[in-house]
Amino acid sequence: MTYHEPIKGAGAERRDELGNFNKAYRTKPHRGSDWGFKTGSEGKPVYAVADGLVAKVLWSDVLGHCIITKNSHDKVYTIFAHLKEAPTLARMDRVIGGETVVGLIGNTGSASAGAHLHAAASTEQLPHLAAVDKLLDLFKLIDASKPKTAPVAKTPTTKPATKKAPAKKA
Ligand SMILES: [Zn+2]
Repeated sequence: MTYHEPIKGAGAERRDELGNFNKAYRTKPHRGSDWGFKTGSEGKPVYAVADGLVAKVLWSDVLGHCIITKNSHDKVYTIFAHLKEAPTLARMDRVIGGETVVGLIGNTGSASAGAHLHAAASTEQLPHLAAVDKLLDLFKLIDASKPKTAPVAKTPTTKPATKKAPAKKA
């Protein structure tokens, strides 16, 4: 397991995928992935999607309060946007993992029309400024990390006893 869902618990849902531009409210392809809670998203915790470090905390007029993390396993940067308040993990290089709360869902920034989490991933240090074709699909990365459904129990295969090569004589 390398990638985790950034929100957890009852009512947590994926809302909008990377590249989506079919919806009436959008004039450009979606530059990230969205999550929210059926029961109200404001103030709910956002977790790191992988083990790594805090790379940057920033404010953007468009994206509001943001935090950028860097994964240790694949060096991918992820920005979490529209956070409720300035993340408190401001210390750079702070080690984080899938259980670390990196911020709280909010509605900050002009591109947010309701509390939700927008996240974008890229090998570039500032994913929100990366070209669309440099963005990675977090939904797919997370799905690829999920354990595969357990296979139907197989009858254990009887392995032929491995014959040891006879010890060489000195
Ligand atoms: Zn979004």
